[in-house]
Amino acid sequence: MPDTNWEVVIGMEVHVQPRTRTKMFCGCAIGQLGDPPNSNVCEVCLGLPGVLPVVNRAAVEAVLKTALALGCEIPRHTKFDRKNYMYPDLPKGYQISQYDLPISINGRLELDGRQVRIRRVHLEEDTGKLIHAGDKLHKARESFVDLNRAGVPLMEIVTEPDIRSADEARDYAQALRTLLRTIGASEAEMEKGQLRAEPNISIRRYGSDDLGVKTELKNINSFRALHRAIEFEVKRQVEVVESGGAVVQETRGWSEPEQRTFSQRSKEFAEDYRYFPEPDLPPLELDRAWIEDLRRALPELPGSRRARLVSEYGLPASDAALIAADRELADLFEAAAKTSGDSKQTANWVIGEVAPTGRYPSPDHLAEVVTLVGAGRITRDQGREVLAETMNGGGSPSEIVAKRGFAQISDESELRKIVEAVIAGNPRAVEDYRAGKKQAMQALMADVRTRAPQANPKLASSLLIKLLG
Ligand SMILES: [Zn+2]
Repeated sequence: MPDTNWEVVIGMEVHVQPRTRTKMFCGCAIGQLGDPPNSNVCEVCLGLPGVLPVVNRAAVEAVLKTALALGCEIPRHTKFDRKNYMYPDLPKGYQISQYDLPISINGRLELDGRQVRIRRVHLEEDTGKLIHAGDKLHKARESFVDLNRAGVPLMEIVTEPDIRSADEARDYAQALRTLLRTIGASEAEMEKGQLRAEPNISIRRYGSDDLGVKTELKNINSFRALHRAIEFEVKRQVEVVESGGAVVQETRGWSEPEQRTFSQRSKEFAEDYRYFPEPDLPPLELDRAWIEDLRRALPELPGSRRARLVSEYGLPASDAALIAADRELADLFEAAAKTSGDSKQTANWVIGEVAPTGRYPSPDHLAEVVTLVGAGRITRDQGREVLAETMNGGGSPSEIVAKRGFAQISDESELRKIVEAVIAGNPRAVEDYRAGKKQAMQALMADVRTRAPQANPKLASSLLIKLLG
């Protein structure tokens, strides 16, 4: 429930793994989740002495595409910096990141007519992973380090504190994921750690322009967790302040099993990291012609596609948003709608039947099913079966309809027999219907489907109404 006294102020830092074959500064493969530990490593990402990093062009390109899609400025000069800290998952003792001259600045992401300002998009490298083994009972604890992730490219997308609720934070992260997938900059799978959202949260009295003390949340692995973690944290901060306490600036983890945030460590400040320009890498002077080529090659972005689906196909805004959120789905919709000539029904099928399965039929097959159902040749249930069968290589929809002997019963005398049997078999529902309980019709129609799955539902229901009336 929104609190009437407190305004929530949220900024987001999102780390995204750009789509590249190799790591940020060496030729190691990115590898897969579940590869044997330390199987994708070399002298460079192990931080051995005497090696030199080389910038991965594909990673820079992914950041540039992202920056362009977010309407960012791309300054002429950019450089890498060393962020110094000692932790066993960081064998060099520093992370190569960007401090005062990031690749891009000052962008925005449109959210339902509202703008979230993007402060910067920069490039850095990921760290390794610590694995703590042993059990609490015997205290025989050991720690291991897996450096497969060390040196994997990461782009960091940082917003201004423009987000005002857990809902908006989730919408922002989802819109960002859609954008990244649309432009091919990242697969952005949250569950695979390719997109990590770290919201920073503070509260202030309504009407105040001051920013409160913020906490930053980590360990968030899904959009649902992002939403819950923020809601929990806002409630916690309000309770702290209203009971006379003060919020402490810190990093807090999200515990999925306990559904709460917990203190991890006090927040570091920039000066703790002793940033300095990375001496092993020259500053990057980005070729303007390259940037313009990338700008021209950008596909239609989700925001404008959503608007076009409304204006060109007459879809309701909510349907357009669902379809435009997935480039493949939107491509399928547009191609199938053009063939079937029925945008509304095609959208229904795309949203109701195709999207939930995650398996996409060919546009022609989808259009054919839409047309067969629309023309009353087969029922919607049969259409669903036909669609599934085409995707399993069963042939075209009309071939399947012929093979399976699907055809609707639209003959009135035949339908009348079925409907009369339904009326005779359901005295209770008939009584209810006649007593004015219109929902009893659903039970009667369900029995029509059981007795004769091929019955044309529209004709059967009007016949029912006629015979009951
Ligand atoms: Zn390597």
